[in-house]
Amino acid sequence: MSNGNRSKLARKRLLVVFLAVTIMPAMLAAWLAWRLLEQDFILMRERLREVRERRADEAVLSAVRALGIVAQQTRSLPSGAVGAPDHSLAYAVQPRLLPEAPAEVFAAGEFAEYRPAGSDEALAIYRKLTASPSAAIRAGAWLRLARTFRRLRRPDDAMQAYRHLREIDAAAAGGAPAPLAGQWAICRMHEEAGRTAELRKEGAQLRALLDAAASNLSRDVYELYAEDAARWSGKPRPVLNEALADAALSRPNGTGAGRFRGQFITWVKVDDRTLLLTEEQATRLLPTGPVRVRVAAVANKDETLRRAGDTGLPWTLAIALADPEKEQEPFAIRQRLLYALLGVMAAFGMGGCYLGWRLIRRELALAQMQSDLVAAVSHEFRTPLTSMRQVSAALSEGRVPDETRRQVYYEALARATERLHRMVEALLDFGKMESDAMLYRTESLDLAALVAGTAGDFSHEAAAKGFAVHTEIGQGEFQVKGDAEALRRALWNLLDNAMKYSGECRETWVSLSRNGREAFLRVIDNGIGIPDNEQREVFRKFFRGSASRHSRIPGSGIGLAMVNHIVRAHGGRVTLTSEPGKGSTFMIQLPTEE
Ligand code: ADP
Repeated sequence: MSNGNRSKLARKRLLVVFLAVTIMPAMLAAWLAWRLLEQDFILMRERLREVRERRADEAVLSAVRALGIVAQQTRSLPSGAVGAPDHSLAYAVQPRLLPEAPAEVFAAGEFAEYRPAGSDEALAIYRKLTASPSAAIRAGAWLRLARTFRRLRRPDDAMQAYRHLREIDAAAAGGAPAPLAGQWAICRMHEEAGRTAELRKEGAQLRALLDAAASNLSRDVYELYAEDAARWSGKPRPVLNEALADAALSRPNGTGAGRFRGQFITWVKVDDRTLLLTEEQATRLLPTGPVRVRVAAVANKDETLRRAGDTGLPWTLAIALADPEKEQEPFAIRQRLLYALLGVMAAFGMGGCYLGWRLIRRELALAQMQSDLVAAVSHEFRTPLTSMRQVSAALSEGRVPDETRRQVYYEALARATERLHRMVEALLDFGKMESDAMLYRTESLDLAALVAGTAGDFSHEAAAKGFAVHTEIGQGEFQVKGDAEALRRALWNLLDNAMKYSGECRETWVSLSRNGREAFLRVIDNGIGIPDNEQREVFRKFFRGSASRHSRIPGSGIGLAMVNHIVRAHGGRVTLTSEPGKGSTFMIQLPTEE
């Protein structure tokens, strides 16, 4: 299997491993988190429903209690009465009739009364009857006494008699309860006499009496007084609620509710007494606060239904939470915490995936670089080895009889051996650098001599390929502490690169200068240059520029990494300025000795 195929396979395997250990668990975790949230949401809805059910029960209880109070009011109605609070019904459907004395009791008085000059006799008869133990007789007597006084034009006495009549409350006179009849007559007298202030005062009292007696009055009697009471008291008569009147007339059975003339009427029946409530009055009995209650036959999705049949209430209630947000608050906090937790988990998961992916990409790149290195090194080795084999075969087989030519062959052999040696040394040194086992033999050395010597040697070798090296050594001392062999290799690598990547231009420049306590060694070429995005990368091991890969320029990608290592070990640094198509300048800065 070829190198390329193997690395492809390795890459695939790594990808599968990456998917297996990161993406799949992450997706599984995401799915589980999603399920968890979903479950939590269902749970929250369920809890909310429970809360609503509980609140609905409380609401029903509170309505039952309120209705209990209404039942109490109903109980206070006269037996058989149908009433309504607020006097909106304003008369009794089944009035409790008060006892009224039979007409015969007063027959003698009335006979005298209508006889000429019989008034005094009538007065005497009536007066006697006002002392009767029967309230009904007393009431009838006071009424007739007053009437006689009025006919005799004795208004003060008449007024006095009416006042007495007003005091009797357990009897009727003239078809109406005695107090009403008395009060009405008093008002009437004030009106006839034009006493407005008194009329207003007594009128108000008539109105109060009428309201209080309403549940005992028949509609006819009520209507008889209602207009006058309103006019005299200046207080408008209560508006008769026709719907209530209809409901009252239909004599509904039991406790219940229904529609009359478009109005929703509720009736509460206790024994034979019934109290009617308008929609507004009934609504006032429904609880508010944490719930929103309405009378309805069907509930919408946020409501709980409590049927009349189940609760004993006259209405079917639809109950919703007034502020579901508030009720959700405890769950919302929990949910927020859950979200936060999932968020953190997701962040960690994504971070982990990213790191994992980076690591794997690095590993892949490294694997690729290493396989490239093996290919490149084998290729580099092949060239000198081939020439060595050919030259040594020619020599050993005696195919070079000419001494001068033989000399040329020996030199070629030496050059190939030297190149091979350099390459092996470089690889060994690189291995040492990688494992931090590289030892530098430091000594005080003249950098100028080292640069001149190395550039000279290189130019000798380069000349064979038509390449020129121009060296420029600045004035002064260039004494540095360092490993001559290592520094030589660093410079050689830079020169080698300058030549490899010089393109059309077959020249390179080496300059050594000094600034203060630093020596600057520059290797300049007018070659292919290095794109911006690769300028930092070139110092990484195994890195090969795009141009060198595309143009198939042989190389192993360890040269600049070694230069960097060596220069750093000497307390210096390497910098690069380059422009694609124009060339590159590598500059080594090294500290000099005093
Ligand atoms: P190699 O030359 O064996 O590929 P190096 O570490 O010496 O490895 O260089 C790394 C990369 O830097 C090269 O592949 C090349 O793309 C780029 N490079 C180095 N020197 C030069 C130069 N003088 N001009 C243009 N590109 C260069």
